[in-house]
Amino acid sequence: MSRPAYPLSILEFQDRFATEEACRDYLFESRWPDGFVCRQCGAQRAGVLHRVRLVWQCKVCGAQTSVTAGTVMHRTKLPLRTWFWAAYLVATHHPGISAKQLQRQLGLSRHETAWALLHKLRGAMVAPERTLLSGAVEIDEFFLGGYEEGLKGGRQRGKKALVAVAIETRGRGSGRVRMAVLTDASGPSLLAFAQATTEPETIVYTDGLASYRVLARHRYDHCARPQRTAVQGEDVLPKAHRAISNLKAWMHGTHRGVSDHHLPSYLDEFVFRHNRRRTPMAAFQTLLGLSAQHEPLTYPDIIDRAA
Ligand SMILES: [Zn+2]
Repeated sequence: MSRPAYPLSILEFQDRFATEEACRDYLFESRWPDGFVCRQCGAQRAGVLHRVRLVWQCKVCGAQTSVTAGTVMHRTKLPLRTWFWAAYLVATHHPGISAKQLQRQLGLSRHETAWALLHKLRGAMVAPERTLLSGAVEIDEFFLGGYEEGLKGGRQRGKKALVAVAIETRGRGSGRVRMAVLTDASGPSLLAFAQATTEPETIVYTDGLASYRVLARHRYDHCARPQRTAVQGEDVLPKAHRAISNLKAWMHGTHRGVSDHHLPSYLDEFVFRHNRRRTPMAAFQTLLGLSAQHEPLTYPDIIDRAA
């Protein structure tokens, strides 16, 4: 069965999730699209054990399940509405929203609360990117950054980070993207990146860098396109280059002076946004942890003992 429908506009969102009750119902419908089913005995009769804490109890065997189990909201002290709005803003705010903006928009009194919310929602941006790219993929590497805030407040010259990009080509458009920080542009580094992101047997387009030749020896259908062989004005890796310039514009606009330490999580966020740019519903549900909740849960995850 399908999940409950996702509101398409901000007004629809506001109407749909106007109360705590409505948010609870949405969580219930997301977990049990066909009505309650006991995870232990399969019975379909349940009573609400603790309405406020969202725990349901099977009327046959007594097993308890919290509707927030396995989601990012588990054991939260914040209203569900706050979580829903935060996920909505993070999912639909294209340049990426800051903790300060989130605090203001949601009327939170403490900056720490906004920061923690954002941190939890961002945590969900990493896990879903596990399946490998396939079909035809462009792989390229590029330098990013180079300036960081100095300890004394002045702008110091920092080290540029080497980043790799892999992106599916789908006719004139592009499909999913992956990015990662590389230690160097050697054959082993680029092969490791390809293997972590792209299925074997895939057609992989690269520029003429000699390090990429290793791909052909490891089950990739490697196609090198040296820039010098291109017709003047032709871009040999158009999808990869567009993704790189989008990333640079995004980093420049919202995340100036990102340290090397935080760069991987910004790359994850960019990849998450790119891959869900046409499916805000998937982004919203993934951020709240609703898409992972049908996976096996451990006992402390299932029972909301903080009630
Ligand atoms: Zn039961």
